[in-house]
Amino acid sequence: MSEARVAVAVSAPLYKTLDYRSPFVGGLSPGVRVRVPLARRSVIGVVMAGPFTDARPPEGLRPVAAILDEAPVLPAELLQLLRWAAAYYQHPVGEVVMAALPAPLRAGADATWAPPMRWTLTEAGISARTTLPANRRAQRAVLDAVAAGLAPAAGAARRRAADEGWIVETPCEAPPAPTVAAPTLTADQQQAWAAFDAAAPGVTLLQGVTGSGKTEFYLRAAAEVLARGAQVLVLVPEIGLTPQITARFRERFGDAVAGFHSGMSDAQRTETWQRARNGHARVVVGTRSAVWLPFQRLGLLVVDEEHDVSFKQHEGFRYSARDVACYRGAQLGCPVLLGSATPALETLHNVRQGRYRRLVLASRVHAAGPPPVELVDLRGLPLFEGLSPPLLKALDHCLEHDGQALLFLNRRGFAPVLLCHTCGWSAPCPQCDAHLTLHRGQARLHCHHCDYQMRVPRSCPSCGGASLMPVGQGTERIEAALAQRYPGRRVERLDSDRSRGTRALATLLDDLHAGRVPLLVGTQMLAKGHDFPRLNLVGIVSADQALYGSDFRAIERMGALVTQVAGRAGRSGQPARVLLQTHEPDHPLLQTLVRRGYDGLAEAVLAEREAMALPPFSHMAVLRADAPDAADAMAFLQAAHGSLPLAPGVQAAPPMMATMERRAGRARALILLQGTHRSQLHRVLAPWVLTLDGLPAARRVRWSIDIDPYDTF
Ligand code: ADP
Ligand code: ZN
Ligand code: ZN
Repeated sequence: MSEARVAVAVSAPLYKTLDYRSPFVGGLSPGVRVRVPLARRSVIGVVMAGPFTDARPPEGLRPVAAILDEAPVLPAELLQLLRWAAAYYQHPVGEVVMAALPAPLRAGADATWAPPMRWTLTEAGISARTTLPANRRAQRAVLDAVAAGLAPAAGAARRRAADEGWIVETPCEAPPAPTVAAPTLTADQQQAWAAFDAAAPGVTLLQGVTGSGKTEFYLRAAAEVLARGAQVLVLVPEIGLTPQITARFRERFGDAVAGFHSGMSDAQRTETWQRARNGHARVVVGTRSAVWLPFQRLGLLVVDEEHDVSFKQHEGFRYSARDVACYRGAQLGCPVLLGSATPALETLHNVRQGRYRRLVLASRVHAAGPPPVELVDLRGLPLFEGLSPPLLKALDHCLEHDGQALLFLNRRGFAPVLLCHTCGWSAPCPQCDAHLTLHRGQARLHCHHCDYQMRVPRSCPSCGGASLMPVGQGTERIEAALAQRYPGRRVERLDSDRSRGTRALATLLDDLHAGRVPLLVGTQMLAKGHDFPRLNLVGIVSADQALYGSDFRAIERMGALVTQVAGRAGRSGQPARVLLQTHEPDHPLLQTLVRRGYDGLAEAVLAEREAMALPPFSHMAVLRADAPDAADAMAFLQAAHGSLPLAPGVQAAPPMMATMERRAGRARALILLQGTHRSQLHRVLAPWVLTLDGLPAARRVRWSIDIDPYDTF
């Protein structure tokens, strides 16, 4: 018999739900928000479907202080997903549940919602429009606005028109999903489409270069799902990409499409949340956290650019929105579409294992595929600000023919190091084990790890000498070099320093798309979605860093970036070249990338990972700890390591300091855990994580657990 008790996920760092006494014998519906006492505080929580965790009889429990909702705000399906996520990511359940509530609702705001109202003309209004004398301008303006589907301005004229019975205000229906003429599918798309069933559960990888028609494929799939009355979630990696893809969906499905991302206000996000929950938004295009939206009837999940690292949340509740989307799809029994030109190795591995299906869009809709990547052997060549003679020659040629060139370098700022030529001092960050980056335009040194900033010193702080020189290249320096070599030509830079004001960015993108910028320098922002119609030269200034990197994913990321950047070239059918400068032209993996493309590289890297039992051939978790004092971080990890139960198939490396030991004034250390099978690893982790806060050494550190980490340093 259901007791007069409820299990509540409270907004607090607790790994389990707490039991409270319910005012009703039957308990409360799961998904309802309540206010409950916690120690001496009062906190908000969400009623969960159980399990109960308190052995005391109901009379011994503290009572629920207030019930905030008449009906559940979170549907059962979502509660189940959140439960799973809390267990899978080893994160406090209340904090996970709060991730599914917009900020105002987390703070207890009223969750009732009425659809937006809309004015419409009545029969009388329609005839009044033709009979009204011309001099009644204000009245006519109101009627004309309403007839055009616009909101008439509030005021006397509108009041009068309403009083006359010419216009009425009614709640907007959930907008129908019009299917505006879709283009006939290309042969490639047709073939992929024939193999896809928009009603069948399962994950499908849609692999195709930019421009191969993936978005068109999503639109088709969405149209089918909408026709059945179900909703569609489209996840995109960055806010920068949402306007473009949202526009494509709006074009096809009109007002039924809503957005959800961090660039929106709390009120706007709450509105989308409500519209999704009430079935009023039929399609939501959003970033990572949209995966937690409470859909009324979700029928399809799309993850565009599924390989993108920004789907992983790196702080607090560390989840992968792509992986959660796949799980949610399976739970709902609906299809999941993962789209990418350069799928994550995890995803390709799942395809090989037969867990995911793969559909390939081999060619572009409007043009030939991207040109091959040509290596430029930098060894022994004279360089002009890091640019080699072959690259400079190609730039000259491109500009002579009125083309557009793009130079890619994944490092912003002017130079990564400021060096004293006299004594060898190089500007360090006082808080991190890292160099400060010179930003010459601002005359400042920045730390890219902790955001520390200072003015550029006039003389060397160590020896007083005046010969401080920048070493190495950043995008700002390449930009300056191009401006110097090609005076009179417009040079632009696209990186996160440059793109602060959204208005300025929009103007720049317009100019780029219109082909008004012959020379563009940028970071990985260039690899994302933008269209450069006259691009016929891509120069990759350097990708060598990945070849020396200690991170096991560095090569995969480099391959994806090079492929994505190269994929910008030749999209409109013009001849194009892609040049990659390197000091390691014989590196086997670089050779594989050039000769066999991303798929070839992926195969080679997967073979390496298998030999070394690295993910996706094993499963990883990282316990990280940081403290002002390295000894404290290590003491905590040593204690944690000592309390780790031994289990077959699970290994835990001894605690070690992170590659960048000091960051933002704190010493960082970690334990790397690996399991042959996911379930074995989780069986060990779950009870262990619960004990960590109880370790005496835990009081002096900040710690976190990261499941399926992207970084292991
Ligand atoms: P992707 O998402 O892979 O970059 P898109 O779906 O955006 O590819 O397609 C690239 C371009 O080709 C877009 O301008 C799109 O409108 C157009 N396109 C896609 N499919 C078709 C088709 N079947 N017929 C005509 N144009 C198409
Ligand atoms: Zn010096
Ligand atoms: Zn720093």
